[in-house]
Amino acid sequence: MNKAEQNRINEILGLLEENYKGAGSELKYKNPFELLIATILAAQCTDRQVNKVTPDLFAEYPGPEEMITLTEEELGAIIHSCGFYKTKSRNILQTCRILLAEYGGQVPDDLESLTKLPGVGRKTANVVLSNAFGRDAIAVDTHVHRVSNRLGLADAKDVLNTEFQLMENIPKHKWSAAHHWLIFHGRRVCKARKPDCENCFLQHLCKYRNKNLNA
Ligand code: SF4
Repeated sequence: MNKAEQNRINEILGLLEENYKGAGSELKYKNPFELLIATILAAQCTDRQVNKVTPDLFAEYPGPEEMITLTEEELGAIIHSCGFYKTKSRNILQTCRILLAEYGGQVPDDLESLTKLPGVGRKTANVVLSNAFGRDAIAVDTHVHRVSNRLGLADAKDVLNTEFQLMENIPKHKWSAAHHWLIFHGRRVCKARKPDCENCFLQHLCKYRNKNLNA
């Protein structure tokens, strides 16, 4: 990467940090288990909706041992409003059984073990690693993928390559924070259908904006 491009990326990261300092997960959780379950529930659902369901769920069923006392139907009824409740219920209960059988009821803290759990893809695993275990990781969801590629922090067709490119282009100690900054920007300004480029503090640095202005 040439010096000018490195400077552009550094400037973007600086402005994101300035504007979204302290940005963190919008899911409510108290420990790795709760974050794991909340993140499984958040697939194709909003964090706000998940946060409506999880406080009561975790109060009653705080760990895998308690959760597996539920049948798929019973858990499905509790998490119904999060969508895809049958699949999520099955995956959560199966995940709980594996946590008990293979990890002493604890959530494993490595990518390989996490991604073997049902309902846990690479994105969910990275969310858990960075937020619950403080590891440097970039979880690439739809917001991170879209915003990174518009800004030119990555140039990739799929989330996996976006993740790899972000890991190359962003200093490691900023990976986890940058994940949150990009999500915040995607939710508030750089929305999927209608990015608010006119009011975006990154417009002078953005490849998408510049391409559209020159089109
Ligand atoms: S200028 Fe537009 S496309 Fe670029 S980051 Fe801002 S809102 Fe998104």
